[in-house]
Amino acid sequence: MGVFSIAKTITRNLFSRPPTSRYPAEPAKRFDLTRGHLVFEPEKCRVCRICMLRCPTQAIVVDREKRTWECDHFRCITCGNCVELCPADCLHLNPAYRSPEVEHPAKEFHEIPAPTPKEDAGSEKAEA
Ligand code: SF4
Ligand code: SF4
Repeated sequence: MGVFSIAKTITRNLFSRPPTSRYPAEPAKRFDLTRGHLVFEPEKCRVCRICMLRCPTQAIVVDREKRTWECDHFRCITCGNCVELCPADCLHLNPAYRSPEVEHPAKEFHEIPAPTPKEDAGSEKAEA
């Protein structure tokens, strides 16, 4: 009985598809709540550092002096905290997965454009 059972399992496994997908050779499945990956729009960023201070994995580093924003994608767990808290709406989650990274750390780096004189005046007013 045991031998037949094992033979049945072996035969079924030989002729059935594996339960896992062959990502990235095949596209990954996406569901309604799939978070995918973090996307940053540097031109909207106010360099406030809220995303950096509230990221639970310290994936983001924002330098106010140098006006740079970087994210280590090996650290990011796509929790969405920074997306919810960003006051400038410059972060969002794209449901597509990123391509697999081959180098560590997997850092995305952006220089944030200097504010226009109008934006500058607005932020000075807000700070006053
Ligand atoms: S999505 Fe979460 S883990 Fe990823 S950078 Fe934002 S706060 Fe950090
Ligand atoms: S929270 Fe938004 S506006 Fe502030 S530094 Fe991060 S990305 Fe830029």
